[in-house]
Amino acid sequence: MKKMINLKINNIPVCVPEGTTILQAAKKANIEIPSLCYLRDINCIGSCRVCVVELKGRRGLVASCVYPVEEGMEVLTNTPTVRASRKTTIELILSTHHKKCLSCVRGNNCELQKLSYDYGIDEDRFKGDEPIYEIDDSTPCVVRDNNKCINCLRCVSTCNKVQTVGAIGQIRRGFDVHVGSPFDIGLGATSCVGCGQCIVSCPVGAIYEHSNIDDVWKAISDPSKRVVFFTAPSIAATLGECFGMPVGTNVEGKMVTAIKMLGDTEVFNMNLTADLTIVEEANELIERIKSNQPLPMFTSCCPGWIRFVEHNYPELIGNLSTCKSPQQMFGAVLKSYYCQKNNIDPKDLYVVSVIPCTAKKFETSREEMFNREIPDVDVAITTRELSRMIKGAGISFKDLPDGEFDNPFSEATGAGAIFGATGGVMEAALRTAANILDGTNEKVEFMDVRGTEGIKEATYKIAGNEIDVAVCSGLGNARKVIDMIKSGEKKYLFVEVMACPGGCVNGGGQPVQSDSVRNYSELKAKRASVLYTSDKENELRKSHENPTIKMLYDEYFENPGKAKAHSLLHTTYVSRK
Ligand code: SF4
Ligand code: SF4
Ligand code: SF4
Repeated sequence: MKKMINLKINNIPVCVPEGTTILQAAKKANIEIPSLCYLRDINCIGSCRVCVVELKGRRGLVASCVYPVEEGMEVLTNTPTVRASRKTTIELILSTHHKKCLSCVRGNNCELQKLSYDYGIDEDRFKGDEPIYEIDDSTPCVVRDNNKCINCLRCVSTCNKVQTVGAIGQIRRGFDVHVGSPFDIGLGATSCVGCGQCIVSCPVGAIYEHSNIDDVWKAISDPSKRVVFFTAPSIAATLGECFGMPVGTNVEGKMVTAIKMLGDTEVFNMNLTADLTIVEEANELIERIKSNQPLPMFTSCCPGWIRFVEHNYPELIGNLSTCKSPQQMFGAVLKSYYCQKNNIDPKDLYVVSVIPCTAKKFETSREEMFNREIPDVDVAITTRELSRMIKGAGISFKDLPDGEFDNPFSEATGAGAIFGATGGVMEAALRTAANILDGTNEKVEFMDVRGTEGIKEATYKIAGNEIDVAVCSGLGNARKVIDMIKSGEKKYLFVEVMACPGGCVNGGGQPVQSDSVRNYSELKAKRASVLYTSDKENELRKSHENPTIKMLYDEYFENPGKAKAHSLLHTTYVSRK
């Protein structure tokens, strides 16, 4: 039990545990101290000086994001000295910032722009050098524009501390110092996994996804193309945020209606191929156990995690499930079964995947994801890109009636829905594996693998056997779990890994929430709750009970993991070390 500290902030008494910073304590008094470089649990370096406050009886200002509370302390957050200091700091930041606000991807939710407005900033009071940096678009996932970077280092901490990838850092010295890849070689030549966590950490428009919006508009207006969309499980849980709706609002029906209004398109439900992935993966796990193949088996539905293994742990490639991700399975189903059934030349079917993820943009381009030179998925767009298309088309999203996914790929189980949250793939797989191994096992909810903690472990008794499993999200946590497995400290049968902390609900392609949301609310948990509610409300909660999945095996794939299913739904990996 931590000692409690009593202090006053702007004369309001506050009592908080020892070790709390002034910035966090102020929130208790309903005061939000502005900040730019601070991001809870990620970047606490006190460098931008926007969060300065005065302490009664002491000279000078202190950075509230790193300064711990003290007994009897009296804090003043809004004095003329504090306001003047913050204003000058923001003006100095703006003096070297390329103020291309009109066309900036963060034009409507830039944290620097908001602070400038709040503090009545004259953007040209100081004239600094504005160095010109080349835009780094060397990966299909992430674009870096240093001309807008304010050196807050949120992205660097995210990449290094949270993800332990280390693809970016501060390089050069003095006035030349800037954030970039080592020796400015471009992200594409580094071990960047494309997770996009640096994007959602950035307060300004200095990092963004490689946009494919123009490709989609072009396909929609091409009369020779039949365009189909499918949406990943977590999109319905987050898209509403782009239209000012509260975090945790399920907008599935409006999302479907909006996409249909973009053009003559069909919209399918990717939760269905999350179910298909589970059926294939659960059968693969059982087969691995029976035939002494490498264990633990690691999940393979996250392309950021796959690249992390390929770059850092190629010796574990044999432990990765060979199942394609739900995105790639859907593409394969559409370009094979669906094209045959509807007499469409696969070249004329244009498949658009709407995903929470920037790494999936790379996944679509992997050579393993092409069948006779035709990609399974033509293009992957993020939640943010879809929202920009909807806004660009002048659609009044909030007012839309609910639409329904198109047949034959509309039906999915609750197990497919929870794929978007950390632990969801594991829970869905356990539901099916338990049923296959022990036909009488009716267990549906595996609560120990739920929640937003970075590493979760559980042991379940299935068909008389103890099954040890682990779930981790965030690549730094994946590294810890791998270290424990390699040292022999832990032994698991099955491990789920998602590159993004909290899973896809917090993916690099999701709506960017400002620090005032990320620092003070449980964003990941609120978004995940939408998926668990969908699961609970669904009559079907086990992937193998999905009638469309049964139909696909009956009509086309025959048996999980066999012949046609294996050639179309499974893949291989490469060492990139
Ligand atoms: S995309 Fe991920 S791995 Fe690449 S630089 Fe950003 S945080 Fe690092
Ligand atoms: S790119 Fe964005 S997050 Fe990274 S240092 Fe620059 S402003 Fe900060
Ligand atoms: S956790 Fe989800 S959003 Fe993040 S990289 Fe993996 S698949 Fe993409």
